Amino acid sequence: MLDYHVHTSLSDDSDTPAELMIEEAIRLGIKEIAVTDHHDPDYPDPDFPFNLNFTDYHEMLERTSEKYYKSLNIKKGLELGIQQTSLDKCRASAGNYPYDFIIGSFHMSGGIPVDFPEFYQDRSGIEIQEGYYRDILECVKIFKNYSIIGHMNLVDRYQHIYRPEEPLNPPEIMDIVREILKVIIYDGKGLEINTSSFRYKTPVSVPSPEILKMYKELGGEILTLGSDAHTPEFLSYNFRYAIDLAESCGFRYIASFKEMKPDFIKTMHL
Ligand SMILES: [Zn+2]
Ligand SMILES: [Zn+2]
Repeated sequence: MLDYHVHTSLSDDSDTPAELMIEEAIRLGIKEIAVTDHHDPDYPDPDFPFNLNFTDYHEMLERTSEKYYKSLNIKKGLELGIQQTSLDKCRASAGNYPYDFIIGSFHMSGGIPVDFPEFYQDRSGIEIQEGYYRDILECVKIFKNYSIIGHMNLVDRYQHIYRPEEPLNPPEIMDIVREILKVIIYDGKGLEINTSSFRYKTPVSVPSPEILKMYKELGGEILTLGSDAHTPEFLSYNFRYAIDLAESCGFRYIASFKEMKPDFIKTMHL
């Protein structure tokens, strides 16, 4: 098994030291993880600025991959929060170290974090979703320094909580999603199945099967599995579900990454 979305205490929203996370991954028999701590340039929450200390982070990546190399393949990753107004900072962060793998995540839209209640106020569901996906589209057209898009329909998870009456992924929104997918496929970028919704106990699949099928039908092949664990008990959480979902959407391979290049493992071998 391989888990390509793992946080440690160097992320503002995790208290789990890297060693603890890694030793639990080894105990669970996981063969490979990508450590992907948060860095979100210009995140507006002073309590959680998601401003990674890169000196400490790179030292931790070097230290742990050396210390545990016999037991676990540790990929040097990053979860980079992307927004239109911060693309230069995103580019600088992506280029500050020889990462194996970068998750491009859209935690904000129009400068507001998508998990904040105000993101869902004073707009219809269509307007909320349109704003979110148009932001992603504009970013992926010009920003290329990432490997996969993290939890692509993050907006669904929170819209389901704050505006449960509004529809998810109506046809006019899926038209914008299609444009995003065409760009990322052309650029050789992937998606992840992110199983953290189970942790949040929200019944929203991330991404939705519709998005996964559309990515596959348009020619997309790069799919990673990520638990988004911030504590050890959620490492590779519900990955059987994720693999079944991938297969039901037509995928026969899961991607791993080294030096930003994908490799492929048959789902039947996971
Ligand atoms: Zn994220
Ligand atoms: Zn994450």
